[in-house]
Amino acid sequence: MEVVTFGCRLNAVESEAIRRAAGESGHRDTIVFNTCAVTQEAVRQARQAIRRAARERPGARIVVTGCAAQVETQSFRDMPEVGAVMGNADKARPQAWLDLARDGQARVNDVFALRETAHHFVAGAVDSIEGQTRAFVEVQNGCDHRCTFCIIPFGRGNSRSAPAGDVVAQIRRLCANGYREAVLTGVDITSWGHDLPGAPSLGRLVKQILRHVPELERLRISSIDCIEADADLMDALATEPRVMPHLHLSLQAGDDMILKRMKRRHSRRDAIAFCADVRKARPDVVFGADFIAGFPTESDEMFARTLDLAEECGLTHLHVFPFSPRPGTPAARMPQTPRALVKARAQALRAKGEALLAAHLERRIGARCAVLVERGGLGRAEDFTPVAMPGAAPGSIVDVTVTGHDGTKLQCGEFPVRRP
Ligand code: SF4
Repeated sequence: MEVVTFGCRLNAVESEAIRRAAGESGHRDTIVFNTCAVTQEAVRQARQAIRRAARERPGARIVVTGCAAQVETQSFRDMPEVGAVMGNADKARPQAWLDLARDGQARVNDVFALRETAHHFVAGAVDSIEGQTRAFVEVQNGCDHRCTFCIIPFGRGNSRSAPAGDVVAQIRRLCANGYREAVLTGVDITSWGHDLPGAPSLGRLVKQILRHVPELERLRISSIDCIEADADLMDALATEPRVMPHLHLSLQAGDDMILKRMKRRHSRRDAIAFCADVRKARPDVVFGADFIAGFPTESDEMFARTLDLAEECGLTHLHVFPFSPRPGTPAARMPQTPRALVKARAQALRAKGEALLAAHLERRIGARCAVLVERGGLGRAEDFTPVAMPGAAPGSIVDVTVTGHDGTKLQCGEFPVRRP
């Protein structure tokens, strides 16, 4: 039984639950594709991988699940290589895999009917993440917003939160399994709690985790919407050394008219003010951000404002997405930017990102940092900066002094292993 994962950290966590549920339901010679639908390219790659798998393992049963299976169900059902298509609502449910083993049937349900998330927590189905030394923890799923370019809500439904008690229990399990860092993950994690009694905030959850899991050394917040960051979250960032000084922001663009046409909730000024406020409260903070290049109607002047926003906010890690029209989204019906221009702008943004990262790496020379070692001779400092760690034990935390960089990651001198 094999699970092939595409896309985000949420899919990585859910693939663990799939591996467990399908494996325990007797699915032997089965390949599960846990797909992503965020861009047309992601869907194309899934199809390509499915065809290749069918050629290389002709007897294997192919099951397709994930967001692409949810939003483009029939097109996957029409593929001769595909044995079954399972919706996002069922993929982590053991009963769904038992049903599939028994009668060969899988369902694709209406994700907007979902009211709870992360039920695999309760089952304790995820106490390790294959190949990961940082534990992704699904605290929220789905999204109530409807940004005009985004297909995600149609793949994952409306926002749902995992109860704080389940999150705390999950992180305790992961710590007991040797994980040192937990990464709070979801689709729109700043909306965590909105659907829970008393509507607690994400900041409240962070403080509860820190209080109830003293053995957790590092807590990282994955991507957030800066306009929805609550006071408790800001306070935890400012006062809790176990909260890592790194935030990845879903900014998308630097021009207010484009942000309006994207139906984003923040303005250019909000983004700049947020970064300045966080930096005042936590001076060692480092910011990453998502940007879309070539959104419909984006002029050269508008794009120039995206480029300079990266400077204004003092960003370091840029994730650049060339605009990809997703069928069924409002942005797909807007006047499109020519593909060549989309590609050129994405290239310009990536080049900006590389320059900002190199400047950040240069500033880190001589600094001390505690690196969580991952696989492949690489680790992550507290501020998420990559560090070359040849020969260090994955999962260990090592104190190092930065001696240089190669433009993409830090290099450090001799390093004693702090704890094996
Ligand atoms: S906030 Fe917007 S971009 Fe993010 S998942 Fe929701 S709809 Fe998509």
